[in-house]
Amino acid sequence: MNKLCLRSIRLDGLLLIFLLAQPVMAENPIAIAIHGGAGTIQKQDLSAEKEASIRADLEAAVKAGHALLEAGGSSTDAVLKAITMLEDSANFNAGKGAVLNQDGNVELDASIMTGDDRNAGAIAGVYGVKNPILLAHKVLTDSPHVLLSGEGAEIFARQSNIQFENADYFKTPYRIEQLKQIQDQEKAQTSLDNSYRESWFSTVGAVAIDKFGHLAAGTSTGGTANKRWGRIGDSPIIGAGTYADDRYCAVSATGHGEYFIRAAVTHDICARVAYQNLSISAAVDQVVKKDLVEMGGDGGVIAVAPDGEIAMSFNTAGMYRAAIDQQGQLTIAIYADD
Ligand code: ASP
Repeated sequence: MNKLCLRSIRLDGLLLIFLLAQPVMAENPIAIAIHGGAGTIQKQDLSAEKEASIRADLEAAVKAGHALLEAGGSSTDAVLKAITMLEDSANFNAGKGAVLNQDGNVELDASIMTGDDRNAGAIAGVYGVKNPILLAHKVLTDSPHVLLSGEGAEIFARQSNIQFENADYFKTPYRIEQLKQIQDQEKAQTSLDNSYRESWFSTVGAVAIDKFGHLAAGTSTGGTANKRWGRIGDSPIIGAGTYADDRYCAVSATGHGEYFIRAAVTHDICARVAYQNLSISAAVDQVVKKDLVEMGGDGGVIAVAPDGEIAMSFNTAGMYRAAIDQQGQLTIAIYADD
């Protein structure tokens, strides 16, 4: 497509004015997808108020990320914005409202990867950091490392002026009751009330493509409820919970982390796009609905391709998810048939 531009030149004292047809440089499509975890989410286990509140949080986060992309912001900015908003909501297993470990503490993991340079930053087993995704991003931008854990990561956070909160900020009554139910049920060997089961996987994540054609992916979690102290899942592992490569795709995962690590889920999806020339939706379905199912791994992923295509796939009853695609179409969904 061409656009007409008014141009003028002075020639031998004469002012010549003319119209010039110039090709319009096509901008890359922008798109964003987010998740708030995948799991045994059944309609009957989620109250109408909780469902409405989760949908509102997803909508606000995906719209905020998309607004940044529209304003010319980077995919990294959009991913950070959406994830920090989900971390600040008590509805998800990340930041405030994250699950409790066996000892009743909140231990946080997060990672981010940028697709243009395939650089990455991640943190694991961290206490007290309000927005773990911002700390993971600091590891990417301000350190020569990819993954920092525990006390070392917390010292780095303080040196980087990252905001801390006390333990009470993170622990919600719902998570305290959830841990009690899980531990009581373990002792009594009875089955867990479904309303506490639904939140086992409610990690948050985001993937985006910006106007410059750059991809980014990020993931943030409290891990799995009642986990052993020191347990680290897939979310901070590059290639398992998060991966981005401008040439192929950006992916963020949620689910039973031990399986996602063993299956190198997010890298495997990008590798299938690279080596098998699969579309992003075929690649996510192969890994999530076939390979992971064969291994016994529950969960799902969100992904975006360099052409702006979005794919969201899960092998559980539901996945909290939202997207704004390259046509500006907003999707917010929870259940498989949403
Ligand atoms: N993948 C996370 C983990 O295993 C849990 C989740 O997705 O909710 O740590």
